[in-house]
Amino acid sequence: MNRILTILGAGESGVGAALLGKAQGYDVFVSDFGIIAEDFKNELRSAGIEFEENGHSEARILKSNLVVKSPGIPDTAPIVQALRNSGNLIISEIEFAGKFTKAKLIGITGTNGKTTTTMLTYHILKGAGYNVGMAGNVGKSFARQVLTENYDWYVLELSSFQLDDTYELKLEIGVLLNITPDHLDRYDYDFKKYIASKMRIFHLVHLGCHAVYWQDDAHIGEGIASATSGLNVRPFSLSGDAAEITHIQFDRLFYVPFDFEISAPRADISIKGLHNVQNAMAAGNAALLAGVNKEDLLKGLKTFKNAEHRLELVKRLEEVDYINDSKATNLDSVKYALDAFDTPIVWIAGGIDKGNNYSLVEAIVSEKVKALICLGKDNTKLVTSFENIVPTVKSTDDLIKAIRWAKEIAKPGDTVLLSPACSSFDLFDNYEDRGNKFKEAVLNL
Ligand code: ADP
Repeated sequence: MNRILTILGAGESGVGAALLGKAQGYDVFVSDFGIIAEDFKNELRSAGIEFEENGHSEARILKSNLVVKSPGIPDTAPIVQALRNSGNLIISEIEFAGKFTKAKLIGITGTNGKTTTTMLTYHILKGAGYNVGMAGNVGKSFARQVLTENYDWYVLELSSFQLDDTYELKLEIGVLLNITPDHLDRYDYDFKKYIASKMRIFHLVHLGCHAVYWQDDAHIGEGIASATSGLNVRPFSLSGDAAEITHIQFDRLFYVPFDFEISAPRADISIKGLHNVQNAMAAGNAALLAGVNKEDLLKGLKTFKNAEHRLELVKRLEEVDYINDSKATNLDSVKYALDAFDTPIVWIAGGIDKGNNYSLVEAIVSEKVKALICLGKDNTKLVTSFENIVPTVKSTDDLIKAIRWAKEIAKPGDTVLLSPACSSFDLFDNYEDRGNKFKEAVLNL
């Protein structure tokens, strides 16, 4: 009798896992608490895979031999609790797909910078001629690619939710970028549990293989020695004193200890800002460990184009750069965005506040921001936090008005920066929608 595989959640990763499971001879059942997109339903139908939507048939699901759970479904969901109580094995789509590929895997996690670093690592490897795929939160699911492609390498973006249900995946290279408080609602509001989830990436690395991490991060520092025992460690640092590891000095990045000759001028890295120096150190280390040579690394760093909505230059108009950083939904990423520009900044921020403590950015705001335009339904907190710090503070819930104001205020040589520090759901569908509408309005100026 075939083994019964149930997939909880029919998004791109769930449907990918269902198709792969079917091809591997499982008896597959897909169950979604909400509505399944029509395209996915058609795919499941043509593969002869049974599915249900708008709820879970618990009795049936409890009979599964294996359950693949979408990362968006929390442990508190009743179906997950019921499965755990009855001892069913629940794994991630990444774990499941990993069973059916012999490709070498690079896994990348961190609170911020995962997508950028994943894409950059992929870009360097691809430019160096590697037969490489990229999966995780970007594009096609890992499972779907394992089914249809035949790559030698994969670069995987791994969120903490994906790591939580991953046990036996084996990575050649694990990368941990940084850890700051995020998603605590999924970790019993216990930051230690979230840290432990991120550190698990190193338990997935083959013994003797490679662990790349940001050494300056206090939360990584605490448990790193035990988490990486038996691994080859390749830390990186922003401190000029860290000459024995990958570091930055005199605006050059030194990829130590590969070869003291491998250094890259910061100006030659296409993505700007100190956070992207970290991402370039992480991606560069991963690529060098995968065997990429110096020339291909430098070429990759120079030619990389980041995903949309991350410090994206939309237009230069009358010597003013308009930058879309709509993905910056927490204060840490805004701090790095402000740091990335040496010009006076007209800063557009706002939306739904996620508990921001704006005093953390007061110093850099007072140094660089000449005007703040608050764009949200309720701007009270932003306005009161900065009205005594920034010379001009304006407030609106109208994007077009915000951009017109920005144009009036900005002088040649200034930067207009949308970097919201907040979620977008008060005025937009999501951060992409916010970024797209910003770009459209800027291009119409
Ligand atoms: P993730 O996939 O982890 O959400 P992204 O690469 O999509 O990360 O970037 C999300 C936001 O965080 C962007 O606004 C970006 O400018 C900022 N960011 C990128 N890399 C870092 C980093 N290393 N540290 C802090 N912030 C970063």
